[in-house]
Amino acid sequence: MHQLTLAEIARGLADKKFSSEELTKTLLARIAQLDPQLNSFISLTEDLALQQAKAADARRANGESGALLGAPIAHKDLFCTQGIRTSCGSKMLDNFKAPYDATVVAKLAAAGAVTLGKTNMDEFAMGSANESSYYGPVKNPWNLEHVPGGSSGGSAAAVAARLLPAATATDTGGSIRQPAAFTNLTGLKPTYGRVSRWGMIAYASSLDQGGPLARTAEDCAILLQGMAGFDTNDSTSIDEPVPDYSASLNDSLKGLRIGVPKEYFSAGLDPRIAELIHNSIKELEKLGAVIKEISLPNMQHAIPAYYVIAPAEASSNLSRFDGVRFGHRCADPKNLEDLYKRSRGEGFGPEVQRRIMVGAYALSAGYYDAYYLKAQKIRRLVKNDFMAAFNEVDIILGPTTPNPAWKLGAKNSDPVAAYLEDVYTITANLAGLPGLSMPAGFVDGLPVGVQLLAPYFQEGRLLNVAHQYQLNTDWHTRTPTGF
Ligand code: GLN
Repeated sequence: MHQLTLAEIARGLADKKFSSEELTKTLLARIAQLDPQLNSFISLTEDLALQQAKAADARRANGESGALLGAPIAHKDLFCTQGIRTSCGSKMLDNFKAPYDATVVAKLAAAGAVTLGKTNMDEFAMGSANESSYYGPVKNPWNLEHVPGGSSGGSAAAVAARLLPAATATDTGGSIRQPAAFTNLTGLKPTYGRVSRWGMIAYASSLDQGGPLARTAEDCAILLQGMAGFDTNDSTSIDEPVPDYSASLNDSLKGLRIGVPKEYFSAGLDPRIAELIHNSIKELEKLGAVIKEISLPNMQHAIPAYYVIAPAEASSNLSRFDGVRFGHRCADPKNLEDLYKRSRGEGFGPEVQRRIMVGAYALSAGYYDAYYLKAQKIRRLVKNDFMAAFNEVDIILGPTTPNPAWKLGAKNSDPVAAYLEDVYTITANLAGLPGLSMPAGFVDGLPVGVQLLAPYFQEGRLLNVAHQYQLNTDWHTRTPTGF
């Protein structure tokens, strides 16, 4: 039963092959048995899950239907869940029980999804390896000595290990797409504003976006359908109708213009990954797509711009964790300043502290123009590159990451080495564009992802291309040994 996709679960439940309660119990047992190897969950919500599963079964018995009705999922632990610990992977929020549900959590619950638990993540979503979590690193089910990617490493490892069919995640600079690539999943970062950020603990507000992680594009369509939509509680949420993502999965790719940026194939890319990307291009050509070389000339500036803007926003967002209003408070503070300093010093891990310092510096009087303003100008150039490219092509294709998943600890002493691995993903966040990563093969037994980018609100197109690719390839069906 644990091999079933969301789409298959929906059919099985509709045909009364099994109940949501049976499925939920099976998956909870599997998590208890296998997750100690992976550490993909921070909290399990067994009681809530069984209660939601029974309620979903009752709704089906009353004639209701729906692709998510009775479907087991989990939430990245930065989506607020009422009365349930929402830690953001940090000691700072280890004792924080959210007083309300995030919009995404509430929407999925209303659609009948069953929450099995909250997944592990890099502290405050800062990282690419899931090693900055207060709750310890997550292991990659494809090789337990390797990282699963981050920051949504817990959601990715759990879905890849067949502990559950799909999970929510967020992507500020690649945190859905990169772990998807590292664990052989399909992951979609929607257009900025497509999915509500209300109740999603902020890292960098102008870049953060929630989205689905699943094994197939078909399942991403189902989960995104439940997550997307306008929300008056989020002032950056966009009031655009949500299309039926499942309805366009089978559109023809005939004549689809795919742009391949020449800058993507530079020296930093593992040549074995380059070969797999070229294979995926050939596959899409067979389906009728037309390939065109394009250029994204400002791509080289994206990493420095991102690593100014994201920490700048983080330094502002994380100022609310002051030992007074939320989370960790130090023992016996001598005075207010001591309370702030020690609460924050004890509550935040080293990577979060580094980013707060970098961000505060970039925003400070005297440096603002040189760093923050400059980074914002680069951001506009990156966006302009994409706008020009999308005048010529419908989709942009390339690798999701320059290398496969690295060994645990390999980049711990050199944060910049980890930042450089984000080169292919962060441009979509800077521009606010939707992006998807899907399985494209293996290097040394580790999965490789191909990334597709589309114009604003063309999530349906991304899912359509990925689904057609998956009907003609079987990379996404491979299962890690032992799971
Ligand atoms: N790796 C990037 C960072 O550390 C992206 C993280 C994310 O998307 N949340 O900021």
